[in-house]
Amino acid sequence: MQCPKCESEQDNESAHCSSCGANLLPGRPLLVRLLWLVVSAGALAVLVLVPYLAGGRIPFFGLVLLFPSGISVFVFALRMAIGAVSDAERYRIRASRFKANDPEQAVRDYTRAILFGDRKEGKSWVRAVVYDRAQVLKAANRKEEAVEDLKDYIRQMWQAGKGKTVRVSMAQAEVIALEEELGARVGECTDSDVGKVDEGSP
Ligand SMILES: [Zn+2]
Repeated sequence: MQCPKCESEQDNESAHCSSCGANLLPGRPLLVRLLWLVVSAGALAVLVLVPYLAGGRIPFFGLVLLFPSGISVFVFALRMAIGAVSDAERYRIRASRFKANDPEQAVRDYTRAILFGDRKEGKSWVRAVVYDRAQVLKAANRKEEAVEDLKDYIRQMWQAGKGKTVRVSMAQAEVIALEEELGARVGECTDSDVGKVDEGSP
């Protein structure tokens, strides 16, 4: 990896440049920030324009539903557009960039993201990262660890009251498939062991 500031060659694992001290963890890309800005503007427009254009034709409960959700979308989108990015989120962004070229580093970055995010980002963020890490572990052929992460993700989803969702059934299917592959590998070993014993015996 090259330092974006002084262009010196840096280790993929470094969080800071060893030559100039620049932060090597990526922030939120400008395009993503712009998209969130558009979302926040859209939410604001809905909040202001819909009641105005409707001119009292929206029933009271409609407004009660519109305002809290509209305001929370607006605030969330504005934070994503102009707010600071936590270290946990920076590690998550970097991990997603390393996924294809350096999966081992991606796993390490996801692990740090989970560690830092545990206190700051909230449970739904953390379990999403656990799921992301499982996918990289799977791709890196680290199946046992992938199963651990998927089971952890499923357990956290049940704790959050989201056990009966499509995501959880998909994760369960992944666990079953991985455990079958792991089981098949064990089976192959036993078969070959049996074969050796048979060959060796008179
Ligand atoms: Zn540098």
